[in-house]
Amino acid sequence: MSSTENEKVECLIIGSGPAGYTAAIYASRGDLKPVVYTGLQMGGQLTTTTEVDNFPGYPKGVTGPEMMDDLQHQAERFGADIRFGIIDKVDFQQYPFKAITDDGKTIEAETIIIATGATARWLGLESEKRYNGHGVSACATCDGFFFRGMDIAVVGGGDTACEEASYLAKLGRKVYLIVRRDELRASKAMQHRVMNTPNIEIIWNALPEEITGDDKVVTGARLRDSKTGELREIAIQGFFVAIGHSPNTEIFKGQIDLDEQGYIKTIPGSTRTNIEGVFAAGDVQDHVFRQAVTAAGTGCMAAIEAERWLGARE
Ligand code: FAD
Ligand code: NAP
Repeated sequence: MSSTENEKVECLIIGSGPAGYTAAIYASRGDLKPVVYTGLQMGGQLTTTTEVDNFPGYPKGVTGPEMMDDLQHQAERFGADIRFGIIDKVDFQQYPFKAITDDGKTIEAETIIIATGATARWLGLESEKRYNGHGVSACATCDGFFFRGMDIAVVGGGDTACEEASYLAKLGRKVYLIVRRDELRASKAMQHRVMNTPNIEIIWNALPEEITGDDKVVTGARLRDSKTGELREIAIQGFFVAIGHSPNTEIFKGQIDLDEQGYIKTIPGSTRTNIEGVFAAGDVQDHVFRQAVTAAGTGCMAAIEAERWLGARE
């Protein structure tokens, strides 16, 4: 089929994280012949992590990429059509709904499951942009390797920051965990882990003001104490930002109801949105739990709801 032709599908799934792939497993078993567009990050956020210890069914744990490969193969076993590509634009004002892919193809879909997840946030410092890829990163498992034996800073106080700090502590000489308050948001298990790692030092009430360098690579960071205003310099070669994520909903603005933080609004207890026939699953509609298993759970719900919604129309 040429890229200018319209393709008609019963169920279009946008996103290939745990929500998208689980929706694909259920939708294909429900004979909706789902087409999945994976987006740039095939497999979603978990492809950037090492161990996943809390997903049911893996008693010995599993790496994020391995788990996402398993989910992909499981969906393909039932016939899901998984395509590497991006949905650039949607039109929910017409039915069937329209979605335009990055290679210009128009897909007409009877139901759509949005599972576009979330993306890492940055601090917004000019020096963060300047040194991105030259000491600044938002993914320890992707870039930690380059900082073996070195001193590293991780910014943030949530599970991601603690996990990144623990991972980097195995590679680096010393890790500073830079926390803007006097407590961590992370789960107790993660807190214990960082507090019991000898080469992690937590710097409390600290706000990064600037990442310093020699114009080529990072050599340090300047931190301001949020209580006293005092400035402190640390010598580091790696600076990892782990301050949370924003929902990937740019293409849905004006098409569907979003909350004030940009997450897709769903009807409580369901994955239904304000547009009948469009469902949302996973982190894109959840700023509370944001776990792989909850994403998978809502992916399952979205596929069942899509199947029932189509059935009721016949
Ligand atoms: P995501 O995994 O974010 O996937 C979104 C998908 O949408 C991606 O495939 C992306 O390419 C695609 N996409 C986006 N825009 C488009 C578009 N326009 N067109 C097509 N596709 C698009 N949770 C746990 O339960 N256990 C853990 O151990 C754990 N560890 C984590 C470690 C890290 C470093 C991070 C960042 C998160 C971790 N989480 C963990 C949270 C977990 O990864 C998320 O809750 C989960 O991945 C959310 O799944 P999702 O399917 O909603 O979205
Ligand atoms: P998060 O829970 O939203 O935490 C973000 C952290 O960054 C918070 O400590 C926040 O500080 C801090 N922060 C935000 N903006 C900042 C800024 N401008 N400057 C400095 N610090 C800033 O995000 P997350 O850690 O990415 O976790 C997201 C979800 O994924 C959570 O539900 C988490 O449980 C899950 N997750 C789970 C695991 C696991 O189970 N193994 C691993 C990773 C992630 P405040 O606390 O002051 O707001």
